[in-house]
Amino acid sequence: MKLGWGDGGVQVKDYVFHRDLTKTYPIITHGKGVYLYGEDGKRYLDGCSGAVAANLGHGDKRIAEAMALQAEKAAFVHTMRFETPVLHKLAEKIGKLAPGSLNRVYFTCGGSEANESAIKLSRQYFRNRGEPEKQVVIGRWLSYHGNTIGSLSAGGDIKRRQPYNGYLLPFQHVSAPHCLHCPFNREESDCETKKDWSCVAELERLILEIGPSQVSAFIAEPFTGSQAGAVPPPKSYFREVRALCDRYDVLLIIDEVMTGFCRTGAHFAIEHYGVEPDIITFGKGVSGGYSALGGMIVHDKIIDTLLQYGDGKFVHGYTYSGHPVTVAAGLAAMDIYESEHILRNVKGLEGHLFEGLDNLRKKYPFVYDIRGKGLFFGIELASNQDGQPFPPDLRIAERLNEKAMELGAVFYPGNGTVNGYAGDHLIIAPPLIISEREVDELISLLDDALKDLA
Ligand code: PLP
Repeated sequence: MKLGWGDGGVQVKDYVFHRDLTKTYPIITHGKGVYLYGEDGKRYLDGCSGAVAANLGHGDKRIAEAMALQAEKAAFVHTMRFETPVLHKLAEKIGKLAPGSLNRVYFTCGGSEANESAIKLSRQYFRNRGEPEKQVVIGRWLSYHGNTIGSLSAGGDIKRRQPYNGYLLPFQHVSAPHCLHCPFNREESDCETKKDWSCVAELERLILEIGPSQVSAFIAEPFTGSQAGAVPPPKSYFREVRALCDRYDVLLIIDEVMTGFCRTGAHFAIEHYGVEPDIITFGKGVSGGYSALGGMIVHDKIIDTLLQYGDGKFVHGYTYSGHPVTVAAGLAAMDIYESEHILRNVKGLEGHLFEGLDNLRKKYPFVYDIRGKGLFFGIELASNQDGQPFPPDLRIAERLNEKAMELGAVFYPGNGTVNGYAGDHLIIAPPLIISEREVDELISLLDDALKDLA
């Protein structure tokens, strides 16, 4: 017999296909600002905006009302037949925020679809230019671009790729610039001053090995996010990469799914490095996490090519691309980013959050490194002062987060594995509306969780 919810709202049989079928999680009934509330009345400070998505906090009626209002107007309109005012308004807002000649905005239902779209667009761009063999995408180890087959193939997340080995697209990978654990044993300052980059040289070697006539795109997160724990690149890295992409006519796709929309103290993280990519992909924060929205911002040269050398069609699309209700959520979120001066709040609190985290580094010897920018930081945990990782089966980052949840805060734990290096980290990325007092509370709860681990 199938059982449903009991009279008292108590679940008696579980119908949910969970990500991990061995686990169940606390049930959240509502949220307000930076806090989430469980059905047992427990309060959690959301120290990672869910999955670095709920940038504008919880329970914002303005976004909820904008969605409800739009839903009342039409359930759905297909972008192959119709357009809506909100679609144009949101595309304009995002297009104007993007650097340089990135103007056209294509909507998807999230980050994986955004990267899948960018991969396919890069192939179509070269097909339209008469170079159909230019179709290999190069990604980086320690990067995550999503879970669809294309985006997973471009990503370098070994654990997520592993079950699908032999089933992925033949894309190639190079090292990410994780200077703290440089696979080439180089000093960051050395690369910068001598302009002699081992990781960029590796990319060039790979392009030449595959053959520039075969390579369509290089895809990278501006900060290596979920796999490495909010690691910013060295200052000139992306300038070097851009020059290389120009030299070999390779499109540069920057994945801002986690970093876009003020997270790092700029509208897009790539702005910190003065580089104009060919495609920016986005997701998560675009709707403040209120709806399943993502997309890509595309350089004029790609649009021009589709129009001049193709028939103006991008042979791709999702039913829910540009869904009016999700787009309305994005538009309401954009208004809040602007009217609430979210960027100013992020820049204003960056130093305070960093100082609090760095004090924890000084206090606990196993807190090995604090890195990041804006309100996007990573804490790396190591078993000794040389940064030796904890054995993965200790699940240190997971355990730290479990303790934090017990105490009333939630963070984003991770454990990346590459080139024999495995590191535990926690991403700290609270909603961007957080106040100074709430940052202090976040630090204090994290301190208590670390104390328990010590
Ligand atoms: N790209 C990056 C950098 C991400 O962090 C993520 C998700 O964590 C994705 C892509 C995939 O986005 P989604 O889970 O919305 O499909």
